[in-house]
Amino acid sequence: MAGNRVIDLSSDTSTRPGLGMRKAMAEAEVGDEQSAADPTTNALQERVADLLGKEAAVFLPSGTMCNQIALLVHCRPGDEVMAADVAHIFTSEAGGASTFAGVQTWPLASKRGIFGPADVVGAVRSAGRHSPRSRLVALEQTVNRGGGAVWPLAAIEAVADTARQRGLSVHMDGARILNAQVASGISAKRMAAPCDSVWLDLSKGLGCPVGGVLAGSRAFIDEAWNWKHRMGGAMRQSGVLAAAGLYALEHNVERLAEDHANARRLAELIGKLGDLRVMNPQVETNIVFLEPRGEQGALEIVAALAKRGVRMGASYGGMIRAVTHLDVTAEDMDVAAAAMAEVLRQARS
Ligand SMILES: *Cc1c(COP(=O)(O)O)cnc(C)c1O
Repeated sequence: MAGNRVIDLSSDTSTRPGLGMRKAMAEAEVGDEQSAADPTTNALQERVADLLGKEAAVFLPSGTMCNQIALLVHCRPGDEVMAADVAHIFTSEAGGASTFAGVQTWPLASKRGIFGPADVVGAVRSAGRHSPRSRLVALEQTVNRGGGAVWPLAAIEAVADTARQRGLSVHMDGARILNAQVASGISAKRMAAPCDSVWLDLSKGLGCPVGGVLAGSRAFIDEAWNWKHRMGGAMRQSGVLAAAGLYALEHNVERLAEDHANARRLAELIGKLGDLRVMNPQVETNIVFLEPRGEQGALEIVAALAKRGVRMGASYGGMIRAVTHLDVTAEDMDVAAAAMAEVLRQARS
């Protein structure tokens, strides 16, 4: 039994800002962000631009807005964007790509969200009056619906080279790029180098309540600022939020390794139960996808687990998604796996 405390593995956004973070927020120096006079927001933007190896960065209220603004800056209406079939841009942004940027999308068949140069070549439209203009390749680091799969550096470089040779730009949805950095030992800067734009999410495994930071060339970020205003994403004394981001980048990056170890532990324990197939036999980061093989479907299993104080998500393709983060511990994995064993046992009897 989990007692009164819920073990929430439904998302790595299921965190509460801790005391240190709240203190940093309370003490943040602030000003008007829109006049570039919020010193804490300015500091966060500089910090992330440096971390991702880009000239400039802009603080935005969410990762979704980072993606949408990137599409708006890179593309014109009628342009075509290619990305993996499972990309967040296609699956989870309420059709924003067509609503705001007015782009057409081409989902590429992928292996856990990873595709290769040949897929890009095959999807680029031939020139001609009838063709939409192929404009942008977007890739996700790590791949959310790919079970936290990490794009290898060589694959990023190969896809980006091919895209560039054909006149396309490259955008990286780096919501969990720091998970990829910690898992692979390759710096976020190197992974982002082949990309024209890249962002990271502060409200995923980093434990902040709000925000994403989008980075790119100075010209790209200047234009992103126009869209931030148009979309109502321009804030005022945003330093209280940016302070959480700076705190997280200082304290919550290296510890992502614990989340990865916990996810592996959970997958191993649940894999042994037999009734659930672990989608990715080797869990690379903090996301575990489980495919039910017995009578019960994902929704039933997730509901039964919730009654035992363990939250997981019913995700796409009839799968269950469990995500680790800084508000769950290694012992919680044992408790969660035991609750899962109990749910499966009851279903069998
Ligand atoms: C969560 C997520 C987003 C969107 O970020 P929000 O801050 O929730 O808007 C975009 N891409 C990926 C891969 C994500 O996991």
